[in-house]
Amino acid sequence: MNFEEKIARLIRPEVRALKAYHVPDAAGMVKLDAMENPYGWPEALKRDWCAVLKSVALNRYPDPEARALRTRLRAALNVPAGTELMLGNGSDELIQIILMSLARPGATVLVPVPTFVMYDMIATFTGVKFVGVPLGQDFALDTPAMLEAIERHQPAAVFLAWPNNPTGNLFDAAVVEEVIRRAPGLVVVDEAYHAFCQRSFMDRLGLYDNLLVMRTLSKQGLAGLRLGVLAGEPAWLGEFNKVRLPYNIGSLAQASAEFALNHQAMLDEQAAKIRGDREALFNELMELPAVRVWPSAANFILFRPERKSATVVFAALKEQKVLIKNLDGSHPMLAGCLRVTVGAPEENARFLDALKRAI
Ligand code: PMP
Repeated sequence: MNFEEKIARLIRPEVRALKAYHVPDAAGMVKLDAMENPYGWPEALKRDWCAVLKSVALNRYPDPEARALRTRLRAALNVPAGTELMLGNGSDELIQIILMSLARPGATVLVPVPTFVMYDMIATFTGVKFVGVPLGQDFALDTPAMLEAIERHQPAAVFLAWPNNPTGNLFDAAVVEEVIRRAPGLVVVDEAYHAFCQRSFMDRLGLYDNLLVMRTLSKQGLAGLRLGVLAGEPAWLGEFNKVRLPYNIGSLAQASAEFALNHQAMLDEQAAKIRGDREALFNELMELPAVRVWPSAANFILFRPERKSATVVFAALKEQKVLIKNLDGSHPMLAGCLRVTVGAPEENARFLDALKRAI
């Protein structure tokens, strides 16, 4: 057997058919492709942070339950009493833990599409059947189609990114509640972009035993930490906790997240600034005659150049050292579409200049 035959024989076909999540090289670029917060911390704060890190005993394993951090997060996220929290190495890991726990033969996960690509990818490698229900007009949930698909497929879980990535809109909260009521399985409301829309299902956790709310610190300036948070009924989280690897959150991440949350006002200020800059960027994009723009409740904006192809515009921006995301080809509803993350004002200006030249 030659080497290629060995790979074909040993690696699961659905894994071989996958493409690894692609992260482009951003060296020297204005980086507006990954919904990162553009702001760092003042030097004095960095010094205090380093002092905290110095006290971490790296020779010891981290607290497997991250007790101190979870207590801090309960307050920071307004988690209702009676609700438990579980932490993941980014919310990506939480999605993986949920789907691994649900992956009985025949289990299905149902998701409106287009949406965050990792739901599909993780379903594929955890062996859960993925059902995508196309969004309706202006990327709103297609209520009859969603409810009909829930009835037909009886999904073990429904994932709703709220606001949705990459479209940026918030689905109608009443429709989300209807989905929660009608779903026979779990409904995970993924609030990765909460800081930019300030609306949440967190306070509805006590009302529905099948609701889980997911958050991440990634979009709030802590993408490098990798910290996702899942809130829900203790009984669900108790099961998921058996699938979670014991030391998934390192000591440095635990200490750093706790430190950052003790400076919540700064994180909130940065988010408020990004919300303001999103409006400015949206208005500038709306001024351009050759661009269709969709409103956003997140820290990115979806748009479509109408006179040139997305791929040509994306390449022209890259040529001018501005990196955004090309969504063309990822889903038919996103044909010709691009997504730009809201950066610092000078980055947004560089992007707009480059875009005006490109379109
Ligand atoms: N959910 C949504 C909707 C996202 O867009 C992303 C990141 N792009 C994530 C989850 C994953 O975030 P992280 O793993 O960094 O917490």
